[in-house]
Amino acid sequence: MNTSDSERIASVLERLGYEKAADGKEANMLIFNTCSVKQKAEDRVLGLRRQLADLKKTKQDLQVAITGCMVSKTSTEHDEKHDQLLRRMPELDIAFRIEDVAKLPKLMKKVDPSLEYKDELDEGTLENYFKIIPKKATKFSVFVPIMTGCDKFCTYCIVPFTRGREYSRDFTDIIEECKRHVEEGAVEITLVGQTVNSYGLSFNDKKSGKFEKFGSSPFSTLLREVDKLSENGLKRLRFTSPHPRDFTDELIGSMAALKTICPYFHMPVQSGDDRTLRRMNRNYKTAEYIEIVKKIKSAMPDCAISTDIIVGFCGETDEEYENTYNMYKEMEWDMCFLSRYSPRKGTYSEKKLKDDIPHELKAKRWHHMNKLLLECAEKSHKKYIGQTLKVLVTHINGNKRIGRSRAFKEVQFESDKDLTGQIIDVKITKAGIFHLEGERK
Ligand code: SF4
Repeated sequence: MNTSDSERIASVLERLGYEKAADGKEANMLIFNTCSVKQKAEDRVLGLRRQLADLKKTKQDLQVAITGCMVSKTSTEHDEKHDQLLRRMPELDIAFRIEDVAKLPKLMKKVDPSLEYKDELDEGTLENYFKIIPKKATKFSVFVPIMTGCDKFCTYCIVPFTRGREYSRDFTDIIEECKRHVEEGAVEITLVGQTVNSYGLSFNDKKSGKFEKFGSSPFSTLLREVDKLSENGLKRLRFTSPHPRDFTDELIGSMAALKTICPYFHMPVQSGDDRTLRRMNRNYKTAEYIEIVKKIKSAMPDCAISTDIIVGFCGETDEEYENTYNMYKEMEWDMCFLSRYSPRKGTYSEKKLKDDIPHELKAKRWHHMNKLLLECAEKSHKKYIGQTLKVLVTHINGNKRIGRSRAFKEVQFESDKDLTGQIIDVKITKAGIFHLEGERK
């Protein structure tokens, strides 16, 4: 989501006549696109104050802006009525909500009235934000945002408060953007959203009535429509991140019938214990999650699945932790983003639940689980030895070509040709924990 947002910010700045600086020290405009799921991320940004103050002393015309999940109000004012970040970090000139990115030129001019810019943009609505044509990092693999915000209100997460309530993008607009990317050479599209498979199902979406014609699972309809672009050259369709609650049978059935859908899903579980899940307000039980994965694997047997787990959540007993550990053993996820709980200011869990698991115990549980994670990751990789995988080459490191298989496994092989953006057959010869190695067929 952040990559996709950054591409839209870059596009707005380019229309103003800006180009990417080689280095932050040379820039006239610095924008921090923040992720604040964890308090640590916010602390890191706040820790930049001294650096920014020094930079501003040497560069009088430097403007500094902040956006992303840390920002709740768009503003250039440093008083208590406006975004508290501007008060806490006087080095910042602008705070803007990402859906207000089209307002950026006006905000920049407010800070520096002498600023000249070439272009005017339609401002301020979510549809306008979605309509900004992104400046793509690569042409062959692109991100397309389809919804923003979240209605799930997990107790540890700030996103519903910063990003706001769920809002789904216009169906036709998404298809038009996907078509344009494919015409310009995209072979891989990743549809993104906070809970991407809730597309068209939120309270706001239902109230608008705009998605009724797309049936009970507008996301399945969307996937089927994007998949038709295989006739124009699209080879791979991905989406991230789905929420287990909206992973319906209809969606699984639709996915299995599509030509371009890739057999890889990142589906956060967060805990393998029902009591912990309840305190997290995840709104599903472990048995339901397991059932969904079973159905996915029976419809798409080669499917790889990764997850997110938080250890040491408020009140997590030894037994609750063991349940998560045992669920990991059963599921053998291909990969997991494992984190230790830290309270994020402004969330329900920070205000109402006790962060009562000692630091040392959180670390102990994390290391214990991480050992299992590494074993499962290596095991999931070993089964590819001897197989030939289709690898989309994304970048180069020396004579190594690095890319992703359809199941999102990183694959490295040697070549003296560039191959970036091409899909290459690679026979796997070696399996590590984090990547596979092979030879070009
Ligand atoms: Fe946050 Fe939960 Fe929404 Fe994910 S589903 S963005 S963790 S509130």
